[in-house]
Amino acid sequence: MAGILDGLKSLGLGNLENSDLFAEDEPKKESAVERPVAKKAVNKVKESDLIFDKEFKCPVCDKKFTAKIMKSGRVRLVSTDDDLRPKYDGIDSQKYDIILCEHCGYAALGKSFPTVLSSQVKLIKDNICSSVKLTKYVDPIYTYEQAAERYKLALACALVKKAKSSEKALICLKSAWLFRGQLEEMEAAGEDKKKLDSIRARENEYLENAYKGFLVAREKENTPIAGMDSVTLDYLLARLAYRFGDNDCAIKLIGGILVTTCSERIKDRARELKDTIMAEKKNK
Ligand SMILES: [Zn+2]
Repeated sequence: MAGILDGLKSLGLGNLENSDLFAEDEPKKESAVERPVAKKAVNKVKESDLIFDKEFKCPVCDKKFTAKIMKSGRVRLVSTDDDLRPKYDGIDSQKYDIILCEHCGYAALGKSFPTVLSSQVKLIKDNICSSVKLTKYVDPIYTYEQAAERYKLALACALVKKAKSSEKALICLKSAWLFRGQLEEMEAAGEDKKKLDSIRARENEYLENAYKGFLVAREKENTPIAGMDSVTLDYLLARLAYRFGDNDCAIKLIGGILVTTCSERIKDRARELKDTIMAEKKNK
């Protein structure tokens, strides 16, 4: 478990490196912002044209700052991976999903950023703001390294504010998707195998933590969980179960999906996964 929190030391938060991410849970409920929706195609889009600087007020230190946000009305959804990761033309949306206060180091996913209780503000101030060392960004876009740093801080904040398992699991899932995006970019650039393997290992590690966290959330929390209805969550869990060799769990979850009333799209994906598992079983 320490693995995914490795590297916090360079941000001044080394004391959090050995924390158990899903050890404690304190559910909190608040409102949220809608997720981006895909729109019309544009020819050869530039990442910098698909983002803008948005002003936020930090709920922890009360100061104003800007963060780069994806223009949800300008992007075109190209495809969705098996584990529901969206892929847009010209931009990796994961890079722009974390809001980070450049003054105090408080970071969270856009949806949860404004919703901190006063008790959580204190925890963040005591455990993050007092020791965090932030990097200054000057690039017109967020690089993968910068985005990974933002996710790491968001995970550290979620940990110290005792966020729900679903919030921590979603940060892990999106971190894994971020590494996958980086991997795709590195593969296209012809990076050497060693570097690719290390990023692939990071993706896997975060994905496994997302799997564990969402399993806990499914037991303890009410839907929607991390913005997902129960069928979508079960499908995601089935995918992750399959990825981590827990085929019995995957089959059980798929069975549940196939007998509920839900979209045919998700049922088709579930059937496809079931066929894959069955075919593999046969070939053994
Ligand atoms: Zn702040």
